[in-house]
Amino acid sequence: MNRNPHFLVTGMQKYDVCGSEMIYLKGSAYEKPFPIQYFPNPEHNLDNCEGCKNTHQKILKEVGDYFKNFPNCCERHKNLKKHSLFKSDDFKDIARMVADKVIYTHHHILNNLDQDNWEEEIYNYLEYAVTSFGQTPENCGEPPALSWFMDYTKRMQLNHKLVGKDAQYKPRQEKVIDIITNFFKPKGKRKKDFNLLLSTYDRWYKFFPFEIAMFSNLKKHFSRTLPVLAEKPKTNPYLGTAKVELLTQAQLLKNLSNITNHILLSIDTTQLLENEYITDSKKYAFDLKKKAHSLNQKTLLEKPTKNEKEYIKTIKAWLNNEKSFINEIKDDIKALPVKKEDVKQDFYTIIKDKAVQEYVLQLLNDLSITVEGKSVLTPRKKGALRGVVEALKQKRIIPNIGLATLCNVIAEKINLELKSELDASNISEDYLNDALDYIKRNPLH
Ligand SMILES: [Zn+2]
Ligand SMILES: [Zn+2]
Repeated sequence: MNRNPHFLVTGMQKYDVCGSEMIYLKGSAYEKPFPIQYFPNPEHNLDNCEGCKNTHQKILKEVGDYFKNFPNCCERHKNLKKHSLFKSDDFKDIARMVADKVIYTHHHILNNLDQDNWEEEIYNYLEYAVTSFGQTPENCGEPPALSWFMDYTKRMQLNHKLVGKDAQYKPRQEKVIDIITNFFKPKGKRKKDFNLLLSTYDRWYKFFPFEIAMFSNLKKHFSRTLPVLAEKPKTNPYLGTAKVELLTQAQLLKNLSNITNHILLSIDTTQLLENEYITDSKKYAFDLKKKAHSLNQKTLLEKPTKNEKEYIKTIKAWLNNEKSFINEIKDDIKALPVKKEDVKQDFYTIIKDKAVQEYVLQLLNDLSITVEGKSVLTPRKKGALRGVVEALKQKRIIPNIGLATLCNVIAEKINLELKSELDASNISEDYLNDALDYIKRNPLH
C-alpha cells in the first residue's frame, strides 16, 4: 500500500501534563486515494458473475458522469484547488476506483459471513476501503465519492438475498448493513476527549501526595504513564494501523480513585518507621501538614468535580490519619530508653548475644569476606555485606532493624569503609544466596 498523507497544521496547543509539556497540533490532512486489494472467490467473482459485471459498469457510468467536472462538481470540492498538494490527475480514475471498491467490498462481505470472526474481518476491510478514499483538508468536502461508495455498498447488500444454506447468515448481513449505515456516527454518547482525559489525569497527579518522600519512586512512574486507554490496541491488518478506545472521563476518574486507594492502603507507616525508612518523624509530620494544607487550599480554589472529590476525600483521610498517628507516637519515640543520639550504636550494642556475635563473625570469615576479622572485599565487591546482612535478618539471627544501621555497624567492626554500596546489586544477590545456604548448612545453636 503506497500511502502519502500530509498533515496540514493550522495551529498548535500546549498542555502541561504531569510536569512535562505536550504539544498538540491542530489541523487537517490531505491524502490522495489509493487502490485496494481484491480477494476474489473462485465461485463468485468479477470475471464470472454477470450481475456483478453489470453493476460495475453501471457504477462506472453514474460516478463518471457525476464527477466529470471534478473538482468543479460542487462548492466544497472547488476549494481543493487552493491546496498546493492537490492534483486533479490523482482523481482521474475516480469512477473505476469506486466501482472496483464497491464490488470488492461486496464480495469480501459475502465471502466472510460464515467466518467465526466475521464482524471484525468485515469491519476491518470496510475501514480499509473507506480509508482508501483519502483525506481532504478543512472546508473541502468529503473525500471525493466516499458517500457514493457507502451508498452502493449498502444497496448491494440490501439487494442480495441470501438463499439456501446461506440464509442462516441473514442476521449477520443485517448487522453488516447496520455497520455501513452507522459507520461515521460517533459510537456512544459519552464524551471521549483526549484533552479532557489529560487534564483530568494531571489534576489527580497534583492532588496526590507525591511530594511525600516515600512516594517519590511512584511519582516518576505516574509522571510517565497515561492510564487513559480502555483496552489493548487493535490492529487492522489491511491498514497496518492500530487503534485504541479511550476511557471516558468517568471511567478514568473511577480508575484514579482505585489507584489512590490501592497506593494508600498498601503503605504501612509503622513498618516504614521501624525500618528507619522514615528517618525523621519531625520532617515527616511537617511534610504531612504541608500537604494537607496545600490540598485544602487547592480544593477551595479549583472546585473539584463530584468524582474528583471521591479520591480527594481518600487522600485527606489518609493525611489526617497519618498526622494523628505521628502525633500519638511522638512521646513514645522520645521515651525510648536508648536514644541513638546519646548512646553510640556498634556491633556489640546491636547484637547483644555473645554466641550470635561469634556466629556472624565466623560466617563472614567462612564466606571469605574477612580474614582474621578484617574485610578483604574489593571496592567492587562491597555489596556482598548487604547480601549477608539480608540473609541474617531473614533468618532472624540478627535483630530486625534498619538495613543501613546493620550494615554500618558490621562494616565498622570489620574495618570496611562503606559509602553508597548499600544499593542492591548482583553481588549482594549472590552473597544473599551464599549466606542463606551457609546458614542452612551451619545452623545457629
Ligand atoms: Zn455477483
Ligand atoms: Zn463535489
